[in-house]
Amino acid sequence: MAKREFKAESKKLLDMVINSIYSKREVFLRELISNASDAIDKIYYRALTDDHLTFNQSDYYIKIDPNKDTRTLKVIDTGIGMTKEELESNLGTIARSGSFDFKNENELKDGYDIIGQFGVGFYAAFMVADTVTVMTKSLDSDEAYKWESQGSDGYTIETIDKKEPGTEIILEIKENTEDENYDEYLEEYRLKQIVKKYSDFIRYPIKMDVTESKLKEGTEDEYEDVIEEQTINSMVPIWKKNKSELTDEDYENFYNEKHYGYDKPLKHIHINVDGTVRYNAILYIPENAPYNYYTKEYEKGLELYSNGVLIMEKCADLLPDYFSFVKGMVDSEDLSLNISREMLQHDRQLKIIAKNINKKIKTQLLSILRDDREKYEKFYASFGQQLKFGVYSDYGMNKELLQDLLLFYSSKEKKLVTLEEYVSRMPEDQKYIYYATGDSNERIEKLPQTEMVAEKGYEILYFTDEIDEFAIKMLMNYKEKEFKSVSSGDLGIEEDENKESEEKEEENKDLFASMKEILADKVKDVRVSKRLRSHPVCLTAEGEISIEMEKVINAMPD
Ligand code: ADP
Ligand code: MG
Repeated sequence: MAKREFKAESKKLLDMVINSIYSKREVFLRELISNASDAIDKIYYRALTDDHLTFNQSDYYIKIDPNKDTRTLKVIDTGIGMTKEELESNLGTIARSGSFDFKNENELKDGYDIIGQFGVGFYAAFMVADTVTVMTKSLDSDEAYKWESQGSDGYTIETIDKKEPGTEIILEIKENTEDENYDEYLEEYRLKQIVKKYSDFIRYPIKMDVTESKLKEGTEDEYEDVIEEQTINSMVPIWKKNKSELTDEDYENFYNEKHYGYDKPLKHIHINVDGTVRYNAILYIPENAPYNYYTKEYEKGLELYSNGVLIMEKCADLLPDYFSFVKGMVDSEDLSLNISREMLQHDRQLKIIAKNINKKIKTQLLSILRDDREKYEKFYASFGQQLKFGVYSDYGMNKELLQDLLLFYSSKEKKLVTLEEYVSRMPEDQKYIYYATGDSNERIEKLPQTEMVAEKGYEILYFTDEIDEFAIKMLMNYKEKEFKSVSSGDLGIEEDENKESEEKEEENKDLFASMKEILADKVKDVRVSKRLRSHPVCLTAEGEISIEMEKVINAMPD
């Protein structure tokens, strides 16, 4: 039998597919399963317009069959199969996608679940196999064929006996080398894991014979290996289900299954958008910050699916830094993927989705804040600092978005309050939003600088986080009220007993002068204070940088 060669340029392409398109070898299985799913979809679409064909969902499946003895892995489907011509053109020409043509010919615009488009995925099989054999019978042909190839030196086609339409792909798995392990692609647990990771939401059952040790019947402690055919994918993605059918528990289970976190999520957000860019998403606000959350090691991102197939594990572009704690996934049918399906060709769609998600997260947080204060405070204890970093690091650009999510401890309420609550309680004569900084609420409470403001009956926000004052400086004001530190030189509080202090200043002129001399390198001036009540002395700052900020800045590494 004469061997047919791949076209010259195809040889190069094949090398490229095998060696450089994919960053992970395990995706070969995703590609073969996607092709199998496409092949079944094609029967489904055909049945929509062909009266002679009925589509019984239960007749269609994909089967994965590893065999350690023969070192083969089979991927079997009951799909539409290929004629001889199709074998030649689809598998004999690299970068020829029969599936792409099918979509065009049938003008499948809506609900086009067919995954194939580039015509390279199949060859990913050569990343793990020395020989790939395809046995196929087309729904449209009485003949069945075998296509076989060892890679770049070409392929053979011959007729075989096969009764039912469909395709069986047999991979002769490579031998292990010193650096590479291929045995894993024959292990049930590993194959299951790969299917779960990339192909869990393929709409047809992916079956595999799984060996399990079970209690022998009639005995109490004797076990035997039982082989059982199992469906290893979940098929219907939770995000495509109707919200009304889902319980909190379903969302929690998904969170745990996906290892988004080991805690219980505080809140989930289920989004279905049918706008310019269609997408579904399930997002979670975790209760606790992961141990490495406030370190450089933490990687933000959402899982990104294209039509139910995982293409990116952590898509960072979907989340702004200030919401980097959000976990979850996005699935869209409108993404333009690049050839490896690991990246996107245009980020326009992604940008629209990211913007949309951003708004939803904010709305959700605000609604927790409004409806379940206790829950919000839990959230804030874990991630409030990140929101404040967000205000600070974007030069106040996200002011509008973030300011209403902030909480600070109030001298009056003795609990965390929002800026909105603070401002709504301000007496008419109060000009500023006052704050005081310190290590703890207890210590701030004792600060001499707070005395006059408190006596005036004004509320003071306590800043105990280093970032607080920096963030507030970026905000500049809230509802046109500027922020004012209780230790700043001018408090903006009218004083009428000016005369008395002037007199005192005069009387003690010499004392102040000598104090100033002694403290020459520590303070700029020594004056009579109008703000003290029970305390004899306090420090105040002039200008923008407060004493607390100065401490933080000085402690920073150069
Ligand atoms: P793509 O899926 O992007 O089209 P592939 O290299 O994965 O590219 O597959 C090339 C073509 O081979 C497919 O478009 C399809 O026409 C055909 N094909 C591959 N696998 C199968 C299969 N299991 N059943 C039927 N046709 C298949
Ligand atoms: Mg494909």
